[in-house]
Amino acid sequence: MAYQALYRKWRPRTFDSVVGQEDITNTLKNAIKRGTVSHAFLFAGPRGTGKTSCAKIFAKALNCTNLQDGEPCNQCSNCLAADEGAMADTMEIDAASNNGVDEIREIRDKVKYAPTQGKYKVYIIDEVHMLSMGAFNALLKTLEEPPEHVVFILATTELQKVPATIISRTQRYNFKRISQTALEQRMKYILDQEKIKYQDKAIAVIAQVADGGMRDALSILDQLLSYEKDSIEYDAALEITGFAAKEKVEQILLAILQKDAAAALSLTKAELKNGASSKNILDELIDLATNALITIKADGQSEHNFLSADFVKQIENVPLERYFKVITAANTALNDLRFTNQQQIPLEVFLIETTNEDQAAETTAPAASATVSENVADPVKRPDDLKTEVTALKKQVVELTEQVAQLKKRQLTNSDQIFHLDNEVAATTTTAKKTAEATQTKKRRKKVKNDQAGKQNRKQVYHVLENATKQDLQAIKDVWPDLQSVLGVSQRALLDVLEPVAASQDQVVMKCKYTLWFEKASSDDDLLGILTDQIAKFTQHDYEIVLVPDSDWLTVRKEFLQSHRDEVLKRQKEVKSDEELENSTADQNQEVIKKAQDLFGDAVNIKD
Ligand SMILES: [Zn+2]
Repeated sequence: MAYQALYRKWRPRTFDSVVGQEDITNTLKNAIKRGTVSHAFLFAGPRGTGKTSCAKIFAKALNCTNLQDGEPCNQCSNCLAADEGAMADTMEIDAASNNGVDEIREIRDKVKYAPTQGKYKVYIIDEVHMLSMGAFNALLKTLEEPPEHVVFILATTELQKVPATIISRTQRYNFKRISQTALEQRMKYILDQEKIKYQDKAIAVIAQVADGGMRDALSILDQLLSYEKDSIEYDAALEITGFAAKEKVEQILLAILQKDAAAALSLTKAELKNGASSKNILDELIDLATNALITIKADGQSEHNFLSADFVKQIENVPLERYFKVITAANTALNDLRFTNQQQIPLEVFLIETTNEDQAAETTAPAASATVSENVADPVKRPDDLKTEVTALKKQVVELTEQVAQLKKRQLTNSDQIFHLDNEVAATTTTAKKTAEATQTKKRRKKVKNDQAGKQNRKQVYHVLENATKQDLQAIKDVWPDLQSVLGVSQRALLDVLEPVAASQDQVVMKCKYTLWFEKASSDDDLLGILTDQIAKFTQHDYEIVLVPDSDWLTVRKEFLQSHRDEVLKRQKEVKSDEELENSTADQNQEVIKKAQDLFGDAVNIKD
């Protein structure tokens, strides 16, 4: 059997096999059992937490003919059809790619027809927040009066972008991040089943990077297996996730706590050089500092207790304030990272800042230990005082943890606010239109980017030539002067070096006069994006741009014409004798020239 990605292979097929969302799966199971199913559900939560899986299981259960205690049987014909994606009554729509009003209108029109195979027609709309305002309105109409046999399951990673009018008409379920322990357990279970060896440390790193998302966790495993084949190793996990080794982070944190700027900087640089990212180092430092705090000062158990004994011993006497400062500063640095391309700078500033504080913090340390020694000298007071001290410390730790959580939340809220603003702005129709256009633009740009790698590929040019039409080329040539007038100065310069030379219904080959420019233009996504957008705007048609350097173009064109000629020759050979063929050479050339003229206009000069 062909290799199947772990994520796909181990996708849950029953509610009980969905990890970490027990509250939700139990409620859904009960609804199915009791037959009290609402018409619209909204599954919200971070990526990879089981929303789509649950939607699929739910859809399957709704039409299963042999329910097993609220679970789909996975054996009846409806279940099997659903597993193969062949269930006619279940429609899956990815709003990220189908954001148009038309698709939703189509739903509205078809929704009234009864299901063909099962009891319910189920519409799963993934990434529903990506729908355009018009599409939302069309959806709303359907949600207002849904036919009896219809169930909508909307899924989103960005609830704040879904209009309140939609949210209020749905039964909402909030999917939460899957805990590290649950992620680790699931990964280990799968690897055991697959008979793949692993190091516990490697699994812990992957769970940390996956940040509550099962899909990410399994896809990292897949990546690792694609080059390790039969084992999951710690070093490889670090390399692929861009994480710094735990013991290295411990060393960095120690250097910070000991205010050894030089050591902190050089250790960090070494990790960056090894492939760790600034973001991950900061994340890990926060994690480690928080764990250290909880473990040592409050004598509690953190979820992730990997602190080495040696490390614990060295940080025993560090005052609480130091941790708090490190955590706060690291959070600030993380925030700063989002606004700079120089990822190393916020990290370095953080290191220097935290290793070079005023004396205030230092004076607290000896004072604190002095209190302790006084207490030791006075055995009568000792137990009570210590108890008070521990209680105070515990309280402080709780406060600190809350502060960290709030800091993290604040970062989220900030982005939430931006999204809210986005929403308000989009509410006016004109802007909504712009938003839709922007999404289109993004899509086009993404396409440009994705296809970038193959740009130089002559095969691609060849493909366009095979489907080329004179009309399409003419359409683009016609709007060329229009483009001149709408593009900025620097972009206009590009038009001077580019020339559309062939076009099919959805692609256009542009010859680039200079090789140097070809490289520059090929790697400039924005420029190509703008050009693609403008061509689409003026021709009312989407063309993907295929760039080709002047020199290559001549070769490809010649090859194409030659092969076309060979084809004509071959066809003629099949029906004509050699003698006749001799006479028809002239016709043959005529035909090739005609074809060439069709494609490239008049400027054709074929040499034998
Ligand atoms: Zn079934």
